[in-house]
Amino acid sequence: MDESWKTRAQMEAAEHAALAPYAQKSGDSRGRQHSEASHPYRTEFQRDRARIIHSRAFRRMEYKTQVFLNGTGDHLRTRLTHSIEVASISRTIARALGLNEDLAEAIALAHDLGHAPFGHSGEEMLAECMRDHGGFDHNRQSVRVVELLETSYPNFPGLNLTFEAREGLRKHQLLYDFPTPGEEKYHCPSLEAQLADLADEITYYSHDLDDAVDFEILSAAQLAENEVWRRSDRAVRARYSGALQPELHKLIIRNIIENEVRDLIATSAKSVAQSGVQSADQVRRQPARLIRYSDELAEANRALRKFLYQNVYYHPRVSEVNRRASEMLRRVFEEYVVDPDRLGDGATRRIESEGLHRTVCDYVAGMTDRYLMEEHERIAGP
Ligand code: MG
Repeated sequence: MDESWKTRAQMEAAEHAALAPYAQKSGDSRGRQHSEASHPYRTEFQRDRARIIHSRAFRRMEYKTQVFLNGTGDHLRTRLTHSIEVASISRTIARALGLNEDLAEAIALAHDLGHAPFGHSGEEMLAECMRDHGGFDHNRQSVRVVELLETSYPNFPGLNLTFEAREGLRKHQLLYDFPTPGEEKYHCPSLEAQLADLADEITYYSHDLDDAVDFEILSAAQLAENEVWRRSDRAVRARYSGALQPELHKLIIRNIIENEVRDLIATSAKSVAQSGVQSADQVRRQPARLIRYSDELAEANRALRKFLYQNVYYHPRVSEVNRRASEMLRRVFEEYVVDPDRLGDGATRRIESEGLHRTVCDYVAGMTDRYLMEEHERIAGP
């Protein structure tokens, strides 16, 4: 290699020098399921990120509903723009805490790959269709996408991501099922995975409020009921006394993100220091997660989540249209079970190993909103 280029080995050394002792360094990765030669000028987590971005499931997120039916407004979030915002916030938090930005970013970009079309309603409907066949959960599905469903390589299924990226996609109880090298069962994933989880929350709290105001389903009076909103509203008005809509609203959203991120960084820095962890594996052996909000903000966020469920996710203009769309999902699902020849070739080949219902579920979960509607029209007529 030309001497002015940075090699992977140099990048790995730079991580060791620059990152916190408890950060997950790419040079210490437990590696991939199927072994591959290392890359001359990319770290393992850079490769993970690239594999995710270049996957088909990633591109399809552009046409999947986050909350508001895909295509109903040009400024509303989709699964793709949501994931990019999560990655951006994850990088900010990771850098401030001396953690591995590449790993946090890769996990953030992949965390929603398994989402079904049509948002919450689509997931509920697919879970209903799979009730007697092992259920459906988008977190588990993200793992299936990267380990099985993406077909990028001739000699193995999936994207063959590192242990650390896949660990980050296994949420909560799923972690216990995860075979680690050796017999050890971990309680927690890396700090990078923990922060990506909470960056996801911060992102959707703020952008669902933003989109709901844009979509005109939240009134000023309703917003004033919520403490997180109220606090930022007060802070913004104090600082920008002449601010008017729509800037005022954008400033409030920014202030909410800023408060959440700052609290998370400060609280987590303290809890990591108090725990005394000195390595990424000591983080994994902790009985509880170290990345967290202050108790005060955690409580305010619980109220915010409840507020969003009550006033946004189940608002008739949101849930009615998603529910009708989900009826299409059920119809298409049932048709495939009766007539599996309608499935694509790749899916048909999985029926033997995965079973008919799981194969249909994988296929339907992978669809964009638009494709599912078209398929519904082919099956049921316009
Ligand atoms: Mg998400």
